[in-house]
Amino acid sequence: MNKVRVRYAPSPTGLLHIGNARSALFNYLYARHFGGDFIVRIEDTDVSRNVSGGEDSQLNYLRWLGLEWDESPETGGDYGPYRQLERLDLYRKYAELLLDKGLAYKDFREDSKDYAIRFKVPQDVEYVFNDIVRGELRFQSKDVEDWIIMKDNGIPTYNFAVVIDDHLMEISHVLRGEEHITNTPKQLMIYQAFGWESPIFGHMTIIVNEEKKKLSKRDQNVIQFISEYEQIGYLPEAMFNFITLLGWSPKGNQEILSKEEIIEQFDPSRLSKAPAMFDKEKLAYVNSKYIKKLTVEELAQKSRLFLEIAGIEIQSQSWLELLVGILQDRMTHIGEIVGLYQSFFHHDFNLSEEGFQFLVENQSLSLLKSFHKHLANSDFSSETIEGLIKQTGLDTNTKGKPLFMGLRIATTGDMHGPSLPISLALLGRDIVLNRLEKTMTKLRGES
Ligand code: GLU
Repeated sequence: MNKVRVRYAPSPTGLLHIGNARSALFNYLYARHFGGDFIVRIEDTDVSRNVSGGEDSQLNYLRWLGLEWDESPETGGDYGPYRQLERLDLYRKYAELLLDKGLAYKDFREDSKDYAIRFKVPQDVEYVFNDIVRGELRFQSKDVEDWIIMKDNGIPTYNFAVVIDDHLMEISHVLRGEEHITNTPKQLMIYQAFGWESPIFGHMTIIVNEEKKKLSKRDQNVIQFISEYEQIGYLPEAMFNFITLLGWSPKGNQEILSKEEIIEQFDPSRLSKAPAMFDKEKLAYVNSKYIKKLTVEELAQKSRLFLEIAGIEIQSQSWLELLVGILQDRMTHIGEIVGLYQSFFHHDFNLSEEGFQFLVENQSLSLLKSFHKHLANSDFSSETIEGLIKQTGLDTNTKGKPLFMGLRIATTGDMHGPSLPISLALLGRDIVLNRLEKTMTKLRGES
């Protein structure tokens, strides 16, 4: 078997979209699983649609996702150039060969010496290929009109350039989106015209939204550009993992897989024929799993900027680590730290009816008085507070739920929540003492 060589061939027309990222990823996985080469080629022949910075943005976000490549415009390689606009001479040469062989003809513009070159579609030929995803597909030449391979400005069309490049770059497999299926017969015509062997094709199914409609870039309900996910604090490892599951599934039912595990398990025969559903909740779930795996130091480092941008003062590194540590389990993306911070510190202190009844039934007033006294003289570190909770229990002869839940309700208003000593240390002296006083007043009113 020839060496596996696959490519991702973006047009630099905008930001890296989730669908393109998936094409890149599956080609990358194919290369890495089979020990082949992964190539990035820039298809910039649709000049009017190119945007400046488009190429960099594609490459930067692929890198962010954890992909690396063997050949590209910036890394170079033995098969360059890797930008189509730098290969115009090649396309011209091959187009002329087809003209010479009588397999293509000049199509002059009215009253002009400018001409496009059209491919002469053979009559009554059936084009058959065995698609990795969809199995055998057949197309009839009679359904295709003679088509332009070179425009009159000397720029090739996609279906022509792609074949010249894939052949010269010795591409063995082409994995791309389903929208290219109908382009494949045109491409096969060119392979046949030159007597070249075609690569093996695999067309990945469309990605649909939760209403089962094809995901469109205009769909406001779904974030679709990789940069946007980065901006709100999705982790690249989680995105890599999630995108892999858009149209592919591993053998077992383990869904949280590292890049290495995915490369090892990647099996193109498990590419799905059914549309891949873009399930936002699943993405959030996968990301939350990866956030949970971070150390508090890592999470603190990733959270810092979000808090700073929101104008939240970071009191100290240890304060930040305490904060992210107790909120870590609740985050689906790191940008949520701001909202979580706000609800943690600024939610109005509300004793629920149930919480208040708990305090009444357990006659908690003396417990709270004792705790207040201890706290008022403490340094308010979480370690000290932990000791003071125990001390308060001893002093007032209270244990278990009446002690722990009682103090939690009186200071946070909630029956359950993250570690109480850490929560109180973070809330700080003024807020905590004030809340305790309010609760005591309310209890006194009751007795
Ligand atoms: N430039 C094409 C695109 O962006 C590449 C298609 C292909 O992989 O052949 O869709």
